[in-house]
Amino acid sequence: MTQTAPDQSTTSDLTHMLIGGEKVPSSTGATYEVKNPANGQLVATVARGTTDDVNKAVAAAKAVQKQWAETPAEDRAALLFKGIALLEQNKKEIARILSQEQGKPLFEAAGEVHHMLHGLTFYAGLASKIRGSQVPVPPAMGKHSYGMIVRRPVGISVGITPWNFPLTLMGTKVGPALIAGCPIIIKPAQTTPLSTLKVIELLNEAGLPAGVLQCVTGFGSELGDTLTGHPDVRRVALTGSTGVGKRVQQVAGQSFKRVTLELGGSDGMIVCPDANLKAAVNGAMVGRFWNAGQACLAVKRLYVHEDVYDDFMSQLKDKVSRYELGDPNTVPEKPKVRMGPLHAEFQRKEIEDQLADAVAKGAKVVLGGKRPEGLDQGFFFEPTIVENVSEDSKLVTEEVFGPVLPVFKYKDLDEAIAKVNASEWGLGSSIWTNNMIWANKAVREIDAGVTWVNMIHYGYDELPFGGVKASGIGREHGPEAVDFYLEDKGVVFGGLEG
Ligand code: NAD
Repeated sequence: MTQTAPDQSTTSDLTHMLIGGEKVPSSTGATYEVKNPANGQLVATVARGTTDDVNKAVAAAKAVQKQWAETPAEDRAALLFKGIALLEQNKKEIARILSQEQGKPLFEAAGEVHHMLHGLTFYAGLASKIRGSQVPVPPAMGKHSYGMIVRRPVGISVGITPWNFPLTLMGTKVGPALIAGCPIIIKPAQTTPLSTLKVIELLNEAGLPAGVLQCVTGFGSELGDTLTGHPDVRRVALTGSTGVGKRVQQVAGQSFKRVTLELGGSDGMIVCPDANLKAAVNGAMVGRFWNAGQACLAVKRLYVHEDVYDDFMSQLKDKVSRYELGDPNTVPEKPKVRMGPLHAEFQRKEIEDQLADAVAKGAKVVLGGKRPEGLDQGFFFEPTIVENVSEDSKLVTEEVFGPVLPVFKYKDLDEAIAKVNASEWGLGSSIWTNNMIWANKAVREIDAGVTWVNMIHYGYDELPFGGVKASGIGREHGPEAVDFYLEDKGVVFGGLEG
């Protein structure tokens, strides 16, 4: 069985934005093309939204804001559960659209849809469990008093997503916003709007009031400042690059909006001398090459203890050399193919530039390192392993958003942790050891939002996720994500007799 392109009826439906409960074209009628990164073919023509469109979406959100905030939590949850059921019925089609626009193999796209559904279900289940508290306070003016913390929806929210995991990263904004009682407008990356539109349409079909969940499509450079600076928007959640994060923080900061930023990363993975090498090799391979290396929480710098370095490297090279690269559009549906193309030509050029810089500074490419033969129609690049990388090369100092893994040999754990911490980023990290003292040391000392112990870099819906330093501020996932869509209000009941 081979993968097929979404049929015309699937994608021709997705040319419009979803504003105020209606499918609408851009206010200027402008459109742009979404192309398949694996073969350059047109997938769909999409509305190129304008600032007018953003203003209309915010007005629609404002019109429904009070109604949604006052909708009982159970009813909000019921609508979300109904939407999730519709998504379940359409999950194969959604995965196909995602694969076409993003370039990831179908099994990875299906995995992302599954992860999004898991996350939305997690939040739908939380809706009726959000609670405030009662706080004892001293008597005032001779009378008893008591305090309460009442939790109110923060207001109109905007979620801006990147192209690498368009659906999971949308779900982790939509779920918490909706259950907290906030309308939300999603702006997907310009190159991956289709699966997002499909999901938002289906969630609306479940009966959400018009304006509660909307989608504007187009270019961040054209819509971004209006979305993040609009006076009626109170909450902005961005997942994207550190550069765009700085801009969003600046613009949203002018009107003191609640901002969370899930930005870039350069996760360090440390392999200790006692590690289960087979598991660690697998963790490094999946952690670096999943999604063609285009993940924020990927293994981007690998530190292996000198006692096990040679053994580890020989196993790693052997495994990765069998990590098959291929065109997601032509391979069998249950393939050995693990990796599709990079998402865009500039992405591949950036990787090539970073690799060339490392080689010029003395690095040795031990596997891959070039465009594969016979896959000229897309932005393919071989899974690549590099040794002897100098600390000042771009493979270390920049975020490497593609399938290139620099490996370093270390002598002691303090040295490895210091190198992991020397990065401007602090998103994920991992340590592979059975020694509890070493594991605890890494957990305490690594500057990162997450440390996995003997585990691949994977984002759980149940746990808060986010970064420190240039990797961002705030948290998504987990019940903690909902806190960012709620304002805590202090309330005092005073003058009580008795
Ligand atoms: P990007 O920053 O170029 O774009 C992200 C989104 O921001 C897109 O929707 C884009 O249109 C929008 N945007 C662009 N300019 C804007 C502006 N001025 N105002 C508002 N929005 C604007 O990122 P990308 O290339 O799509 O994604 C890759 C980056 O995302 C990498 O750095 C990666 O590490 C990061 N990322 C982080 C996480 C995380 O959870 N920390 C997850 C996935 C990706």
